[in-house]
Amino acid sequence: MSRIAYVNGRYLPLAAAQVRVEDRGFLFGDGIYEVVYVARGRFIDAEKHLARLERSLRETRIAMPVGRRALEGVLREVQARNRITESGLIYIQVTRGAARREHVFPKAGTRPTLVVTARALPPFPKNVDAWATGIITGPDQRWDRCDIKTVNLLPNVLAKQAAKEAGAFETAFIDAEGMVTECASSNIWIVDAAGQLRTRPLSHDILPGCTRAALAELLAGEGVTLEERAFSQDELRAAREVFITSATSFVRPITRVDGAAVADGAVGPVTRRLFAAFTRHVLGGLPNAA
Ligand code: PLP
Repeated sequence: MSRIAYVNGRYLPLAAAQVRVEDRGFLFGDGIYEVVYVARGRFIDAEKHLARLERSLRETRIAMPVGRRALEGVLREVQARNRITESGLIYIQVTRGAARREHVFPKAGTRPTLVVTARALPPFPKNVDAWATGIITGPDQRWDRCDIKTVNLLPNVLAKQAAKEAGAFETAFIDAEGMVTECASSNIWIVDAAGQLRTRPLSHDILPGCTRAALAELLAGEGVTLEERAFSQDELRAAREVFITSATSFVRPITRVDGAAVADGAVGPVTRRLFAAFTRHVLGGLPNAA
């Protein structure tokens, strides 16, 4: 079955879907995006993702292309037309539209470009040990508004490729002070050497992850306290446990950092517990048939 994309009001086969050559997303990276995970037909943390999309548009002064209700309708339609029932993602991108190439904003009334696509993903991971992976570290070379989910992802692309070439899944970014910010496409958490769960506080330095926020809301029920305090590269290497969060990584254990084992190299008890809690959050308490 061929995939279907939504582009500015039309549903088209992916291969036939197009935006203009002078689209500002293409010319300047002048656009924002969102990724929503779909499990068993449900959009996971949809309210958080749509609120962040609206915030990204406000911060970049791009107009909302359609109202919230209409956008939700488009997301449902794209999900249905691509038959994303069990496990998949919805991708939403909004740019400042197409206009003659000039850095300044195009004239008032230029219609923003809205693109929505979807694709199936492997089933939600059943086994937390098999879900564990490795990361490398590298310098954070991004701009100072990383809290906006823009499509300007060149540093992230280069960092993900570096990780892949090193046999790892992600790169944890290190800032000029030697502190960890986040990963190329996920937030990062540790259980430090003293046993405290930590992640970097929200600021312009990191993306306010929807999975980060959803997991933070689950912590009280798990009897786990969180300290939002930045940690250094050395603390990352000395951590008892490390995991990352994102809409498609969920809670993903990290058992290798720069090729060295985290603690004894096995998934730790806090990560195990939070993976289970997040699994219930995503699958609605139903057993994972996958
Ligand atoms: N940080 C960065 C740089 C990201 O690109 C992402 C997701 O793509 C995240 C964090 C995690 O955000 P979320 O949990 O909303 O997917």
